[in-house]
Amino acid sequence: MSVRAGIVVTGTEVLTGRVADRNGPWLADRLLELGVELGHITLCGDRPADIEAQLRFLADQDVDLIITSGGLGPTADDMTVEIVARFCGRELVLDDALEARIGEIVTTMMARFPGVDVEAVRAANRKQALVPRGAIILDPVGTAPGVVVPGTPTVVVLPGPPRELQPMWGAAVATEAVQTAIAGRTVFRQQTVRMFGLPESGLADTLRDAERSVDGFDRLEITTCLRRGELEIVTRFEPADAAAYSDLLTVLRDRHAREIFSEDGSLVDDQIAGLLTGRRIATAESCTGGLLSARLTERPGSSAYVAGGVTAYANSAKSELLGVDAALIEHHGAVSEPVAEAMARGALRRFGADTSVAVTGIAGPGGGTESKPVGTVCFSVAVASAGAGVEMTTRTTLLPGDRSDVRERSTTVAMHLLRRALSGDR
Ligand code: ATP
Ligand code: MG
Repeated sequence: MSVRAGIVVTGTEVLTGRVADRNGPWLADRLLELGVELGHITLCGDRPADIEAQLRFLADQDVDLIITSGGLGPTADDMTVEIVARFCGRELVLDDALEARIGEIVTTMMARFPGVDVEAVRAANRKQALVPRGAIILDPVGTAPGVVVPGTPTVVVLPGPPRELQPMWGAAVATEAVQTAIAGRTVFRQQTVRMFGLPESGLADTLRDAERSVDGFDRLEITTCLRRGELEIVTRFEPADAAAYSDLLTVLRDRHAREIFSEDGSLVDDQIAGLLTGRRIATAESCTGGLLSARLTERPGSSAYVAGGVTAYANSAKSELLGVDAALIEHHGAVSEPVAEAMARGALRRFGADTSVAVTGIAGPGGGTESKPVGTVCFSVAVASAGAGVEMTTRTTLLPGDRSDVRERSTTVAMHLLRRALSGDR
């Protein structure tokens, strides 16, 4: 790990959470692809002293490259270039060619707003043509140019709007200054395994064993993340340690064959899209309010296999739209396996589908009982095939969390039951 970088994300709107940071994660992915190790992403508002403190902090960590995002606009709170110049000990100079270029962009842009004083706008934008002496200028994507200031560390200054930052990053990487700064990088491999139905503690156990049995385990950088009931295990390693990764994978397969559903990073959504080829699916949802239907229709091309869905929240809707017998609801309760099964069969009929999924549960906060507490969710998957009739898979689970957790988790459980039913693994 020979080249390290840090990212400074600026912007009071990002600091306060009004805008979610998209630049830090995006740049982190690009650095990973390049084989540059990312040490820190720091975040601060539009205050000069704070921005300077973060630059200082990263430089003290001996990073080779600092990337900043935001604060390149024409307004008074956009000061990043000025602060970076001071930090790098370079004076700000007006770049005449850049000023002319920004002038052109502004004139073209302002033509759409008659009555605006173009001269005043140009004067405000003149500030954007001030660059640290000796810096490399990155052509504006909007009106704001970026800059690369060579040195130790080299600093790349990029605009805040993601649609401007992203195209400019390519230009920054192509500069000689950045290439020099990252010359000693190592190209890493990254592999992702996904599991469903294993608690994080179970995986921790397995990893402790692997630590003893896998030669070179300490050279694998393993990060695990639990999200919506799925475990994601991301491993980074240098190409020379591929054998250690393959041994780790063997340990994971030995212990968790049933829980592993992806060894190539593919998502359950990708797999279901493949499994539904040539089929026709319908959904019947209660507590998930259409989330499952939304998830199934997220990807382009899903109209080839999604027939549609019914969101039947009221009992009367379950009866009228899905043909669920009112007496069945009365007898077992709306959240019950017989009702889930009847909903799945109803969806098959209603849409002339050959595959269906039904979800009925209690997402809370009220409505739970002792026998059916909040988080009780019943699922039923129906898969019809020529000759074999309709095969039903019906389950009840108790899901943790608040209302939005239960709804989201239910959607994921439904996706995995569907995946298993379609791949004949029940
Ligand atoms: P502008 O010329 O638009 O002012 P700028 O470089 O000064 O560009 P900022 O003022 O920091 O950028 O941010 C402008 C807008 O871009 C923000 O209001 C926000 O909508 C978006 N933005 C900025 N930083 C981020 C970020 N890290 N993630 C997502 N969006 C961002
Ligand atoms: Mg701005």
